[in-house]
Amino acid sequence: MKNSLAAFAALAVLTTGCAPDTPKTPETASPPPVTIVIHGGAGALAPGRYTPAKEAEFIAKLNEALDVGYAILDEGGAALDAVEAAIVTMEDSPLFNSGKGAVFTREGKNELDASIMDGATLNAGAVTGVTTVKNPIRLARSVMEDSVHVMFAGNGADEFAEQQGHEIVDPEYFYTEHRWKSYEEALEREKQQEDSALPIDFKYGTVGAVALDAEGNLAAGTSTGGMTLKNFGRVGDTPIIGAGTFADNKSCAVSSTGHGEYFIRLTIARDICAQVEYADKTVEDAATDVIHGRLETLGGGGGVIVLGADGAFAMVFNTDGMFRGAKSATGVNTTAIYGD
Ligand code: ASP
Repeated sequence: MKNSLAAFAALAVLTTGCAPDTPKTPETASPPPVTIVIHGGAGALAPGRYTPAKEAEFIAKLNEALDVGYAILDEGGAALDAVEAAIVTMEDSPLFNSGKGAVFTREGKNELDASIMDGATLNAGAVTGVTTVKNPIRLARSVMEDSVHVMFAGNGADEFAEQQGHEIVDPEYFYTEHRWKSYEEALEREKQQEDSALPIDFKYGTVGAVALDAEGNLAAGTSTGGMTLKNFGRVGDTPIIGAGTFADNKSCAVSSTGHGEYFIRLTIARDICAQVEYADKTVEDAATDVIHGRLETLGGGGGVIVLGADGAFAMVFNTDGMFRGAKSATGVNTTAIYGD
């Protein structure tokens, strides 16, 4: 399948004896293969965009995030913990558009969004427009676990973070020279464009993770600085449950990256899981239908990572590339940037 990869867990059915008269022991499904899949954003990532040294930096950080998340799963830890840890690793890296390294709004600020969902309980937490919280994904989890709400916005989210004892930073912490340069270039390009469409070399850089633990529980999370030059108060898909993030043990876990307005209108993450649940589609087919079908028809760009309850996963995008990786008890251990 174009721009995608899938691995299927061997659901071995153990029986003893094969002679007709030998009584069979009850069928036993093997435990699900613990798996983590991550992304670091999709976009105009054609080969040659980065020097080999820069590519190696991205790959090393993706591997670090995978290893951190996978180690938790391998030790019997929860999918939610693996998702959070993998995302924190990428939020702390200036390479990605989340946490440190977030893109700038039109007003030259960094406003961060994140969400997380537990596939076992359908509990979810999200934050949007936070400006002082070092790790928005931790705050999203805290909204899920320490409040009776699902989403906090703006000052309220920052205030909740302080109340809950999250690490607070000066907004300056999020500044990086390369994002500021992109901001200035985007302003310049915009002046030269007649319409308000995104520049064609636009690169999304959101981060996300989906995981399956040894208990068979799925979780998904996503974190972003949003889109360069986003207008005041703009909310993308990342903090919207069902658009940027969704997880349900009955179907799958999804994290999205791309032009958020399209992902919201198509409820991309929920649509993929609905197709898996109600139409019995594989995660690969459902993701392909939504990204190469519905999203493309509407004119949107981006990608998703999807993980099923059986360990099957897909990484599908309609852009030139998507930073991505997967690690599983089945032996899969892969990272990539560009398309096939
Ligand atoms: N989906 C994010 C947003 O629209 C951007 C991204 O994926 O990089 O805010």
